[in-house]
Amino acid sequence: MSDKMTLQEQVHESFRLYMLANGLRQTRERYAILHAIYETEGTFTIDDLQKIMEKNRFYVSTNTLYLTTQLLVEANLLIRHPFSSSASVFERIADDRPRSYQICSHCHRITRIKSKELAASLETYHSRSFHITHRIVYVYGTCASCQRAMHKRLKAANVNSSTK
Ligand SMILES: [Zn+2]
Repeated sequence: MSDKMTLQEQVHESFRLYMLANGLRQTRERYAILHAIYETEGTFTIDDLQKIMEKNRFYVSTNTLYLTTQLLVEANLLIRHPFSSSASVFERIADDRPRSYQICSHCHRITRIKSKELAASLETYHSRSFHITHRIVYVYGTCASCQRAMHKRLKAANVNSSTK
């Protein structure tokens, strides 16, 4: 693809080719959703996307948003993060830089890890038989504030049991 194309033009063309190759209908809604997603930095949920579409004065049903995001995930234009929160969390793939996240298993808070070492080792991974489209690592654990809360509860429980 040409360097002169903007990111919006590039993803529009990728999506067009994907729909063409898979015999899918190219609808105004699908393109409008793609462009709304590529206006958005960072992670978002279907609810967030609905608000962006409303702000753009383009009204689509929640069902259309679910189906189109699913299509964009299959077209490798969108990531659905495997976070264990109740709502699906999505993020556009604006570049092929590796990404790493740490996720708190208790409050589901997600933070980006900015480690050059981790990024470098992710970049060096290659597979002969597997075509890699994006490189993402997830680290699970307990965030600082959840650790503090647990420590507090434990302390309170100890005090209660020792006074009995
Ligand atoms: Zn937490």
